[in-house]
Amino acid sequence: MSDCIFCKIASGEINASIVYQDDEVVAFNDLNPQAPTHVLVIPRKHVSRISELEEADAALAGRLILTANQIVRDLGLVEAGYRLVLNCNEGAGQSVWHVHLHLLGGRTFGWPPG
Ligand code: 5GP
Ligand code: ZN
Repeated sequence: MSDCIFCKIASGEINASIVYQDDEVVAFNDLNPQAPTHVLVIPRKHVSRISELEEADAALAGRLILTANQIVRDLGLVEAGYRLVLNCNEGAGQSVWHVHLHLLGGRTFGWPPG
């Protein structure tokens, strides 16, 4: 999508602090981090929200989590704990309309989330 900021990050048109990328996914540091580690993992494919993922996207959806897990392992954050968040629609806090998985780590997290 030509007007999507995360598509532009995935294509390199807009700069981001990229921590991992391959043919399917891109991971980059959040501009406004909510934890010492705050990485966004996105599919290169434009999907507006997680409710629009389809059966054909099953492997891609799994790839988001597995990519986050690898980053967490690389950063040595597994044992301390980390949180993966997917916000869908305004009511849950979604503000960018391209699917993204938040990887948060480096501090303790409360429950229930706000
Ligand atoms: P949401 O609120 O949709 O779940 O999360 C969107 C996230 O994208 C927010 O945490 C916000 O800080 C981040 N974000 C928005 N625009 C940019 C940007 O241009 N670059 C980066 N790296 N992060 C962004
Ligand atoms: Zn997009």
